[in-house]
Amino acid sequence: MDFEFRGVRGTFPTPEKDRSRYGGHTTCSSLRLGPNDYIVVDAGTGLRGLGDRIMSEAGAADIRVDLLLTHFHLDHILGFPFFAPLFSPRAVVTVHAPGDPRDTQSALAGLMAGRYFPMELGRTVARKEFREFEPGTPSGSVRASSCPLRHPQGSVAYRLETGGSSLVLATDTEHPESGVDERLAAFAAGADWLVYDAMYTPAEYDAGKRGWGHSTWLAGTRLAAAARVGTLVLSHYNPAHTDADVDRILEAARERFPRTLAATQGLGLGKE
Ligand SMILES: [Zn+2]
Ligand SMILES: [Zn+2]
Repeated sequence: MDFEFRGVRGTFPTPEKDRSRYGGHTTCSSLRLGPNDYIVVDAGTGLRGLGDRIMSEAGAADIRVDLLLTHFHLDHILGFPFFAPLFSPRAVVTVHAPGDPRDTQSALAGLMAGRYFPMELGRTVARKEFREFEPGTPSGSVRASSCPLRHPQGSVAYRLETGGSSLVLATDTEHPESGVDERLAAFAAGADWLVYDAMYTPAEYDAGKRGWGHSTWLAGTRLAAAARVGTLVLSHYNPAHTDADVDRILEAARERFPRTLAATQGLGLGKE
């Protein structure tokens, strides 16, 4: 597995210097299957740099990208119009998302329509396909599956399995009042990595963030223990949190679940 975080921030990009060590781009990650073949999860602002890298790696070769969207909140799609392969005649970009693919297409086309963007999606030269996500093999030898999450307007977790490794991304989900989300625990069971929504501290959550669809590092440690995952990876950071805040969150989480990492932009998982 050759997985890399391209954006680890939730809600809104953070160019501030005191948030740059963990990274300011919104959520996007990639699984590289070959020089011109990628599975990408979410199209936050981190997608732009990935697109540029794919183009420079590919040279004159054909490019294949399977983009798996978890949902359509802006922090998960804002990089889409700036994804260089869309403008390459050698690229095939297949967008997989929950629900009717016509809705997916119109949501993404809307980002590039009218006054929002200089080039309409329909005029970009890549071959584009829109599909309702179905469990199976979107690309290469990777098996993907999904699980609904507790989030306003809905979101999903994805599980990616390849070469004996498994990774679950659950970046936008609210934990239940008590216990853990049993459906998600079953879905993440035994995964090598569980990437989890660390948007709020427990104190912030209790002070008025119930119902906003996000979770805490503490709920993440409970879920990681219940699902017996190898490593908990905190991500989807609050834009208000500085690097020092995330350092403290990581330290607190490690006291509960020692095998915890905090995702940084550019962090790779599963590379040999
Ligand atoms: Zn989000
Ligand atoms: Zn969301």
